[in-house]
Amino acid sequence: MEVDAVTAEHLLTHRRQLHTMPELAFKEVETSRYLAERLEALSPDRLEVGVAETGVVADVKGARPGRAVLVRADIDGLPIQEAGELAFRSARRGVMHACGHDVHMAIALEVARAMAERRAQLSGMVRFVFQPAEERGLGAKPMIEAGVLDGIDRVIGLHVWSELPVGQVSVRPGAMMAGSDMFTLTIRGAGGHGAQPQYTVDAVVIAAQVVSAIQTLASRETAPAAPVVITLGSIHGGSAANIVASEVVIQGTLRSLDTELRARLVRRIAELAEGIATAMRGHCQFSLESAVPPVVNDGSVATMVAEAARTVVGEDAVVMFEPLMVAEDFAYFLQARSGCFFLLGGAPEGARVGHHTAEFRIDERCLQLGFRVMMAAVLRLLQQD
Ligand SMILES: [Zn+2]
Ligand SMILES: [Zn+2]
Repeated sequence: MEVDAVTAEHLLTHRRQLHTMPELAFKEVETSRYLAERLEALSPDRLEVGVAETGVVADVKGARPGRAVLVRADIDGLPIQEAGELAFRSARRGVMHACGHDVHMAIALEVARAMAERRAQLSGMVRFVFQPAEERGLGAKPMIEAGVLDGIDRVIGLHVWSELPVGQVSVRPGAMMAGSDMFTLTIRGAGGHGAQPQYTVDAVVIAAQVVSAIQTLASRETAPAAPVVITLGSIHGGSAANIVASEVVIQGTLRSLDTELRARLVRRIAELAEGIATAMRGHCQFSLESAVPPVVNDGSVATMVAEAARTVVGEDAVVMFEPLMVAEDFAYFLQARSGCFFLLGGAPEGARVGHHTAEFRIDERCLQLGFRVMMAAVLRLLQQD
């Protein structure tokens, strides 16, 4: 499927317009309005707004029978002040589309338009789901609870990726993005005078042991070939140099691709921290704040998506990028239905720019490629028996 001039222009216009107006999780009010207006113009068979607060859902039904395929795009931005001088840079102070969700929305909008235009030849139904709050891992669940998966056979989504060259597409069967567990360890001791440690239980010293011990979970208790990251990103405690701290709070995240390993490590983090604290006369409380499962693609759907991608970018440009340790709440869709999440190359020329940074950029040539791959993949999935 080639990209006509109108589609090419729409892709750029949507992406750039949406880039200027990023909004944070569950606050995507104007974004949601922008999407709903464009979708409404396609006379969809169903249009729902305000799903899970700011989500938008549109169905396009074909004239012929076929499967029901859900296309998901995430719509939220990040609390980052955009750097650089793009003509269409963020007009909202301190908020930026620094992950490429503007690209996802532009592609999904144009796929919806193309599908609506070919309704008469279309087999089955395509549901377009514009999901809020992906960055906080909080949007997918309430959308699913609101019923967006009802009647759906297959799910598909993409993420533009700034480390993958533009022109390449990565489709990986099985686990392709990590599960993410966010946890808090609250260590309690007994405070006192810094010069009289014998009357205290020092929460800082306990925390130091806990931090070191947790590093051994990946290095000593996990097989070398199993990717695991445990980052303790925040530690706070104490109030002055000469006061023994009574409490230290540590926050961390665990990333892994394997559900069983993940459950074991969550348990071990709690056991180690609680055991060390108790042995050192203190106390530790473990709490799991959030848990997003890994993104696991269905093998046969991934094969079909890879075949579709090859027709667009060519044999050699469909790759299997290494599994990413970032999380994505599309995982919840994939837990409930067979499907595939793929990476769309969008690396800008020159420097490496990371997602979630003020310098984040993508090469806009990925818009047309993403549109074409998504069209080809959805058309295949609709006809799959
Ligand atoms: Zn992100
Ligand atoms: Zn993202």
